[in-house]
Amino acid sequence: MKTALLPAVKSFLAAQPLPMYVGGRFVPAAAGQTFETRDPGTGEVLAKVAAGDAADVDAAVAAAQKAFHQAGWAAMPSNDRAVLLHRLADLVDKHAHALAQIESLDVGKPLAQAAGFDIPDAGRALRYFADLAVHTRLREPIGLKAMEAYTLRVPYGACGFILPWNFPFMLLGWNLAPALAAGNTVVLKPAENTPLSSLYFCRLAQEAGIPDGVINVVPGLGRAAGAALAQHAGPARIAFTGSPEVGRRVAEAAGRNLIPCKLELGGKGAAVLFDDVDIAQTAGQLAGAITLNTGQVCCTATRWLVHERIYDRFVDAVRARLEKVRLGHGLDPLTEMGPVVSEKQRRRVLGYLEKGRAQGAQAVLEGGPAAAGDGYFVKPALLAGDPDNICAQEEIFGPVAYLLKFKTQEQAINLVNRSRYGLANSVWSADWERARRVAEALVAGNSWINAHNVFAYGLPYGGVNLSGLGGGVNSPQALHDYLRQQTIARPL
Ligand code: NAD
Repeated sequence: MKTALLPAVKSFLAAQPLPMYVGGRFVPAAAGQTFETRDPGTGEVLAKVAAGDAADVDAAVAAAQKAFHQAGWAAMPSNDRAVLLHRLADLVDKHAHALAQIESLDVGKPLAQAAGFDIPDAGRALRYFADLAVHTRLREPIGLKAMEAYTLRVPYGACGFILPWNFPFMLLGWNLAPALAAGNTVVLKPAENTPLSSLYFCRLAQEAGIPDGVINVVPGLGRAAGAALAQHAGPARIAFTGSPEVGRRVAEAAGRNLIPCKLELGGKGAAVLFDDVDIAQTAGQLAGAITLNTGQVCCTATRWLVHERIYDRFVDAVRARLEKVRLGHGLDPLTEMGPVVSEKQRRRVLGYLEKGRAQGAQAVLEGGPAAAGDGYFVKPALLAGDPDNICAQEEIFGPVAYLLKFKTQEQAINLVNRSRYGLANSVWSADWERARRVAEALVAGNSWINAHNVFAYGLPYGGVNLSGLGGGVNSPQALHDYLRQQTIARPL
């Protein structure tokens, strides 16, 4: 039985079409266009939403620029901004249940995950960066002979954000919080599959007293609103999180305007399991890595390299665990894994399984379409075989892992490092020295030991190669990304 919707969620969804938020006002799209967002658990339309295009992006960038120069946000001392950002985080917490229901409905993820992680984590991001900004030195003297000199750190201006659909609210927090805490203003284009929690957030921003124009949200299609923001000459910076294909286009467009562009892209994370691991426990954790968010997690472990001595026992244990995973609607409290986000994503996952098998991969656990209602459900799948198989190489973004057997440490390192991605890998062993050596040899932004998907504020996160331009997400580096450095010097 599904959890009943809260009155706040019902009234939010009733006010359709849902407007965008520009300059502190909730407005329809200039051209009057709308698009639909669906409940992936049923396939039904959840809401009609204003579909922004170039005119709306123009208005939002202009509002953000005006607010940057006139709203007092940029000039405000960091601790005054922190008070407002803490107030906003308090409102996120106060509305956490409504936000979690909205996120669960829009993405398809289990309500417990949205309520226990995604939503509170956005609040944590706001608090972390607000506090960090208070303690960040904005003037640093430089000791030079015959010169009075110092560097000054100031916000850039209006910053643009284009975000994906897998963790819409959490990524809103991770992205907007450092920019806002540093004194920038923002224009966000959420993913068209999942615009709802970002729009609900605008109400909270208004209630918290964030000055008009500091936060602007323009929902819309990638090829319209997203492309317009990427191509716009107005933003001082652009941040994109999503696929390498679109990231390339966004970076190209920003590059033409010489606008700095941050990219956080996809991944094909590996987990290397040595023969001294606790097999049952590791099997449980890796099964969790591909069922978390139905495998739609950029940094999760989807290539499992298992030492030949434990391979068969590990495969039996993990298959038994995955066969029992309970699929269902995100609002059903018994659901362990929800649907994928859309019919398009479902076709993508099933297409990869087909192509992988056609190239000779062995199906250790069949996976495939699941009959759990009319939603976009797929069962967990395990493939094994050649490391050059398409399913061992490309990001599938669904509940699928690819098994590879290894004999020596060097072989494992080479197998991991042949990926074109470089986001996150993990090493599993009771021998921590060996685990550390291997972790250091893996080429990626993050190497985790005896765990996968490890996040903490202060622990920099980011990707290299096809996974991005090395972000330093959730660390002081992210705050500094949003502070422009200026040198002041006076010869004595
Ligand atoms: P996507 O690249 O299709 O879309 C991301 C965003 O770009 C959306 O808002 C979309 O509307 C917009 N967009 C689409 N076409 C555009 C265009 N031509 N110009 C400008 N914007 C455009 O990605 P997705 O399917 O939403 O998300 C999945 C991808 O995101 C996966 O590759 C995943 O690994 C990656 N991801 C990475 C991280 C990270 O931190 N590295 C986090 C989450 C997701």
